[in-house]
Formats: sequence, structure tokens, C-alpha cells
Amino acid sequence: MSVFTASDVLHPIDEAARRHLETMSGLQSAVKAYHKAYSERLIRSSQLAENLRLGPRQLPEIYRLLPPICEAFGIAEPELFLAMGPVNAFTIGHTRTSITLYSELLDHLSLDEIEAVLAHECGHILCEHMLYHSIAQVIELAARLGAQANIPIASTLLSLASGPVRVALSTWSRKSELSADRAAAAYLGDPEVVTRLMFRFAGIKHGSRFTHDVAQFSAQALEYEALRESRWDRFLQWQIGQSSTHPLLAVRTREIQAWSATPGFDRLAALGAQVRAASRCGACGHRVDIGWRHCQTCGTAQTPPALERVS
Ligand SMILES: [Zn+2]
Ligand SMILES: [Zn+2]
Repeated sequence: MSVFTASDVLHPIDEAARRHLETMSGLQSAVKAYHKAYSERLIRSSQLAENLRLGPRQLPEIYRLLPPICEAFGIAEPELFLAMGPVNAFTIGHTRTSITLYSELLDHLSLDEIEAVLAHECGHILCEHMLYHSIAQVIELAARLGAQANIPIASTLLSLASGPVRVALSTWSRKSELSADRAAAAYLGDPEVVTRLMFRFAGIKHGSRFTHDVAQFSAQALEYEALRESRWDRFLQWQIGQSSTHPLLAVRTREIQAWSATPGFDRLAALGAQVRAASRCGACGHRVDIGWRHCQTCGTAQTPPALERVS
């Protein structure tokens, strides 16, 4: 079965920023230092010790959304964790990748919005963002929290990645969000849920009692049309200074709506729909065949389809 490829969703602004980043001389030493000293095993053991790992018997309502996304993107399944924290999620690790959802996200978003977050995070994996993303995340955390960050390699990376490389990494990292949003919209077959997600990150909770309007937010995004490439870098640099955890909400909304109106989108949406429509185990999300009494991936008993009544 065909799957999404990175080139299907890679945003040209992401690509150009990455090419620029890769020409910078300090980057390779930061990459080497990351590979040498950064322990993905250490991160994993701390996640296993502190966070809740989702699976067929741990929040299956959420976990089961992940395998179909990985199937559509042709990527290895990352581990999925839940940690106590604000409305946010992150993906870390280059060779051993994991996604962490923060607890407030579960109350703040509807289930299809959580699915869009997972597809967005997997979009980063599909586009091979993880190496530079992981380095950028460590550097940003260290810069923001200083000594409190307590990340073993943080100070080494901070000293190796000089000012311009750091800025280029963070700028690229924010631009890479555009490609991950594309992956999410294509998988869900509709930019509407991604737009809703931006709206949620702007502060409106799913089911909020206050009068609110997603369409108004989309219209607001149109006003950002003027904020295009020539001014992007300055804008992003300002945002980095603000330590924004949800950058570019209105710009991303506008970008995803424009891209989903292009001809290639329908082909990808059809591919996503095909994967999503397969019959799946309700606990682990993997494919099951009609007639299976138990899921061959997680062992959960499958309910046989109701027989049609013959009158
Ligand atoms: Zn992202
Ligand atoms: Zn299963």
C-alpha cells in the first residue's frame, strides 16, 4: 500500500530554511556533540520512570489513534507518553523517538483534535525533522531555563552552537511546523481540524461556554497575508525572544487553508481516508481481519460484527 512521503508535505519555507541551516559551519559540531553525548537511553529511562506510557490497556482511546497514522506515513511507531503539564505536546529523539502529550491537552481538546496533534507530531518524524529538532529543543530549554534545565549536554551544545546557528536552528524549527501541519491536515483529509487546533492553542477550550467562532479566527489569519517570507525571519526571531511555545498560529492557519486548496491535497486526503477506514482493533488501532476472535497485535478480544437480522 502506498504511503505519504516527506516530499508530499514538505513546505518550501521549511526546506529553504533547512538548506540555509545546513550551510552553517557550527552546525556539524553541534550534531557531532549531540550524537556523542546525548543519551536517548537516558531520556527514555527518565520517561519510563516519570511518565505514563500509553498502550492497548493504558488510555487505549488515545493510543489506538497512533498506529494508523504511523501506517499512513510509513514510519516506525514512536512510544507515546503522558506527562503532567500544560496544553502542549512534544516529540524528541532522533534514533529512538517518543511523543509526549501533556495532561491538560486531554481536557482542552476533542478526540479528533488530539488525533491531529498526533498526526502533526508524526509529521515531524515523516519529514525527518527529529535530529535538528531534538538539538533545537535541548538548546532552547537550556537557554530558557539556564542551570535549572539540568540536561547533561545542554551547556556543551550552547557553547558549540554559536548565536547565528542557534537562531537559524530555532527559526527553521518554527518553519518546520508548516510541514507537520500539512501532514496532519492530509491525514485527516480536512484542514478544518488543524484550524480548530490553532484556535485551541490560542486559548479556547473544546466545548467552551464562551461565544466563539473558528471562522472569525480563520478570517483574522487572512490579515497575516502580508507577513510573508521577507518579514518572516525578523518575525520569527522576535518570537524566539518571546519563547513562544505555540508559534505562528494565525500564519499556520492561513498556510494550511491555502495548501489544502491545491490539487495535490485530494490525492493525499484519499490516501489518509483509506488508511483510516480499515477495520481496526479498538484497543491498539492495528488492522484486524473479519473473523479474528482476538487481535493478533495486542490480544484483545474482538467483538464479531452483528449478524443481519433475517425476517
Ligand atoms: Zn510541531
Ligand atoms: Zn489490538
